[in-house]
Amino acid sequence: SRINIAIDGPAGAGKSTVARLVASTLHYIYIDTGAMYRTLTMKALEAGLTAEDAEQVTRLAERLDITLLPGPEGQRVLADGEDVTSHIRSLDVNRNVSHFAKIEGVRSRMAALQRLMAQQKGVVMDGRDIGTHVLPDAELKIFLTASPRVRAERRFQELGENPGVTLEELERDIAERDRLDEEREIAPLSRAPDARLVDSDGRTAQEVADEIVQWGQQIART
Ligand code: C5P
Repeated sequence: SRINIAIDGPAGAGKSTVARLVASTLHYIYIDTGAMYRTLTMKALEAGLTAEDAEQVTRLAERLDITLLPGPEGQRVLADGEDVTSHIRSLDVNRNVSHFAKIEGVRSRMAALQRLMAQQKGVVMDGRDIGTHVLPDAELKIFLTASPRVRAERRFQELGENPGVTLEELERDIAERDRLDEEREIAPLSRAPDARLVDSDGRTAQEVADEIVQWGQQIART
C-alpha cells in the first residue's frame, strides 16, 4: 500500500533533491512546500506588500492559485496560471520568505492545500513543518540536516553563474532564515519526535534517497 513521506530540515540540507529522487523511485508525487511559500512571497512583493501587512497578505494567499507541475526538468510552479519557476529562487524572495511564512493566515492556507494534496497517499512532501504539523500521521518522517558550510555551498551552486552574493553572505542569509524558521511561533522548523535523523554531509543525494526508499518500502509492506 502507499504511504506518505515527510522530509523536513533546514535550508540547503538537500531536501528537494533527495525528495525528488525518492518520489521518482517509488512513483510517488513530489511536493515542494517551500516553493509554495516562495510563490506567495514573490506575489506579495510584486503587490508592494510587506510581512507587516498580515491581513492583506492572508487575503492574497487565500485567492492565489498555486499549481505544482511535475516536468522533465524538475517541478514547474504556476501562480494563477503563470509559470514563475525561475523567479521564486531570487535573492529578494530568499531574504523575505521567512518573514511572510510567519503569518498565521498564510500558514493555515498552505497547510490546508498541502493536506489536500496528500489525501490520496503516495506523496513525498518536503518542508519545515510537514512531520510536526501538516502531516503528523505520515508513515515515514525524515529530518535531514547538513553542516552550515555544506548547505551554503549547495545553495551557491544553485544560483548559477552570476550569484550576486558571496558564499559568506549566503551562509549568513541561510543562518538568518533558519533562525527565523526555528523561532517563529506557529509550526516552527523542528524535528518531530518520531522523525529519523539523517545527516547528508559527505553523502550523495542518491545514497540518502536509497536509504529512505528502503525504509519506505519496508513500512509500505507491513
Ligand atoms: O524549502 P525552501 O528553502 O525553498 O523554503 C523557503 C522558506 O519557506 C523557508 O525558509 C521557510 O521560511 C518557508 N517554509 C515554511 N514551511 C514549509 C516550507 C517552507 O515555513 N513547510
